[in-house]
Order: sequence, then structure tokens, then C-alpha cells
Amino acid sequence: MSHTCDAFVVTCIDFRFQKYIKRFTNTTLKGKLYDMVGFAGVTKDLPTIMNQLGISVRLHHTKKAIFIHHEDCGAYGKESTYKRHVTDLHQAKKAVRAKYPTLKVDLYYLHLDGKFEKVS
Ligand SMILES: [Zn+2]
Repeated sequence: MSHTCDAFVVTCIDFRFQKYIKRFTNTTLKGKLYDMVGFAGVTKDLPTIMNQLGISVRLHHTKKAIFIHHEDCGAYGKESTYKRHVTDLHQAKKAVRAKYPTLKVDLYYLHLDGKFEKVS
């Protein structure tokens, strides 16, 4: 068995969303292999995320990064607006592309009701 994986997934630690994230990985990532980490605010602390992604790429030759921000994120507090999350997601994608030009990046905004919205 090769020691490589398809994706590096970053979610928030927030327990309210774990069942939706599980459903997402069981459907969208069905049959895929992925590294997964939880950080409060997801890409809010971008240097930390880039470091973790670097390890995933180096060890597992990961092909894709998936960042899942969510509504009402405590790590953002009052700044947890849709606009701010989209801005930070785009910034994260830009940083990943600059460092790993061939890596695919999928961005999502997860609503409180469990709806995954793809951010382009
Ligand atoms: Zn959160």
C-alpha cells in the first residue's frame, strides 16, 4: 500500500459541526484517503496551517487542500461574517497556490444548518 493521500482537510474544532463534516467526508471524500486536522478558526492562523499542510505534502504527497470555514465561528467572534470568511479562504488559497502551484484547493463555507457552500 502506497503511503500517499488525496487530500489535506482542515476544519474548525467546533463540536456543533462535526456531524456535518463527517457526512461530507463520507460522501464527497468517499473512497479517498485524507489527512485531517481541526484548528479553531480553520485558516485564521495561516502560518500554522501552511506548516501542517507542508508536512502532509512532504509525507503523503497530498494532491488537494480542503478548507472548511463555518458560520458563527467563535475563533472569529464578532468578525465571523460571511465576507470575512470568504476573504480568509481566498487568502489561504492564494498562499497555498504560491507555495504549491500544482495543489488543488477547495474552499467551503459551512452553514449552521449543515449546508456546505462551495466558495470559488
Ligand atoms: Zn469555529
